[in-house]
Amino acid sequence: MRLSGPPGMRFDVLTIFPDLFASVLQEGILRRALARDLISVKLHDIRDHATDRHRTTDDRPYGGGEGMVMKPEPLAACLRAVQAGESPGRVILLSPRGGRYDQQKAEEYARLSRLILICGRYEGVDERFRRHYVDEELSIGDYILTGGELGAMVVIDSVTRLLPGVLGCTDSARNDTFSRGLLKHAQYTRPRVFEGSEVPEILLSGDHAAIRRYRFLESVRETLERRPALLASVRFTAEEWKLLAREGLLERVRLAGATP
Ligand code: SAM
Repeated sequence: MRLSGPPGMRFDVLTIFPDLFASVLQEGILRRALARDLISVKLHDIRDHATDRHRTTDDRPYGGGEGMVMKPEPLAACLRAVQAGESPGRVILLSPRGGRYDQQKAEEYARLSRLILICGRYEGVDERFRRHYVDEELSIGDYILTGGELGAMVVIDSVTRLLPGVLGCTDSARNDTFSRGLLKHAQYTRPRVFEGSEVPEILLSGDHAAIRRYRFLESVRETLERRPALLASVRFTAEEWKLLAREGLLERVRLAGATP
């Protein structure tokens, strides 16, 4: 199934359940990115490359044990067809054994022109397919999903929002949690008072420089509180160091590993 015209960034997904992707791609930011050709997503049914009349894509594991394993031939035939005559792209196998996906990885992928995402099912894919065809194994977290499709959706979604022109406001992705190693500050909208809780006064002040400083300090406090290890990779500006010193946060931030 083809969901868009000529690619900005191109995603190819190899799966035995292509229909799982429809609702994710047909709503919101992804739908708009597809409609504007900022991305294209092609879904390839691995079963179309099976050679028997039952369209078999799995078989019992050699050596015994529970579950089924995805056969290498339909996977390889599907991948070869997807790559034929075009740039080979980065071939990524979704797998709980892979390197952990994070924002840095999403940024790396957003610089590529083509990602080919392979979704395992059952007990995973035959090791020889992995060895011969896969550039990288990727895990979306330390838990086991029933298949790689949700992982592929996570990658498509998180990479797409980093591509130029996808988000309405160019600052949105830059200011996201993780984009510079800090958690994002808390956000408020109307009403001004909700169940007795007021919006912080400073946010109503109209003083944009003061609001920027407040939000920065809130980000640092949130990060210190929830994910202090993230601070080791943050590069603060000279002005920010001064602000941290003024607010008495310098020592805590240094102890967490941030260096000038
Ligand atoms: N038996 C395998 C194991 O213990 O490593 C798990 C197989 S899992 C049920 C089936 C497929 O789901 C995997 O081949 C992979 O494609 C996908 N999958 C499961 N957990 C994942 C995760 N955390 N990240 C990425 N893909 C995952």
